Amino acid sequence: MTHFQDFYKKKQLRYSFEIFPPKDPQGIEPLFQALRELSVFDPAFVSVTYGAGGSTRQWTRDLALRIHQELKQTTAFHFTCVGSSKKQILDYVTRLKEEGLNLVVALRGDPPQGIEKFVPSPDGFQYASQLVAYLKEINGFSMAVAGYPEGHIEAKSKEEDLIHLKEKVDSGADIVITQLFFDNSDFFDFVDQTRRIGITVPIIPGIMPILSLKQVEKITSMCGAKIPSDLHQELQENQENPEAMKQIGITHALHQCRELVKKKVPGIHFYTLNRSASTLAILQELHR
Ligand code: FAD
Repeated sequence: MTHFQDFYKKKQLRYSFEIFPPKDPQGIEPLFQALRELSVFDPAFVSVTYGAGGSTRQWTRDLALRIHQELKQTTAFHFTCVGSSKKQILDYVTRLKEEGLNLVVALRGDPPQGIEKFVPSPDGFQYASQLVAYLKEINGFSMAVAGYPEGHIEAKSKEEDLIHLKEKVDSGADIVITQLFFDNSDFFDFVDQTRRIGITVPIIPGIMPILSLKQVEKITSMCGAKIPSDLHQELQENQENPEAMKQIGITHALHQCRELVKKKVPGIHFYTLNRSASTLAILQELHR
């Protein structure tokens, strides 16, 4: 059985690449090409997201299987509690496990747009920690969970959010992958605080190379991460120039990665947005 934590046991830094199921089948070949290009950097795993509201349930499963079978890359699948009863969860994950996929990024998921409070499915789960405990009981799965260097958007305080993160780890999560962030000091403070409360599992920083101002504003408005004001201003000044914005994204993420590597993080998880160019440019510079 594959365990997330095994990837980080040696001193060597490991990369992982997050992708999402493309909207239509024409998106598959460019995505596979991107993954082939990125495979030069020997990723620990590729992770496939689960659409908001459970919208890509089938698609996530099929795509994760194809990456595993056709590209022969170690694949993790994201799964959220949205819209699933325990029985449905059991069916879904068991089928994937039978096909050789046992790495799960276990999440609660978001309430539908415009609705503030998350409502669990009948006979489903309210929190990711319950999903983790359930998967642990089924046996044969290794779980990653989400951590929030700037605090989760619904959390009353960062302290409370950290306590709930510890609950996820105590329920059986093997690693924490963080939400994207643009100021490394948020990540370093977060790691210090997790260690202080007794979380000992690897914490993998999530890095997103920005592609455009519009895109980063949309993503951060949903997840609550902040864009440092100088970076925001630089993007605003170049918003008519897509190539310049992409380059700003690469430069900023490269700066973040260099500092993270210096501080000896066990791995870096790239939010690739299904593109390889920016992530490749960063990795090539890092390995120069
Ligand atoms: P939880 O850990 O359950 O936390 C949710 C909120 O509840 C937090 O505010 C927490 O502090 C609070 N809480 C937890 N336990 C308790 C408790 N016992 N009592 C009171 N409050 C509690 N979303 C998708 O839809 N699909 C994806 O594929 C996806 N992938 C992601 C990958 C990563 C690495 C990250 C960081 C996020 C991802 N998300 C994804 C987003 C995620 O679903 C949202 O951030 C969601 O709002 C919270 O999920 P969670 O698993 O962190 O929830």
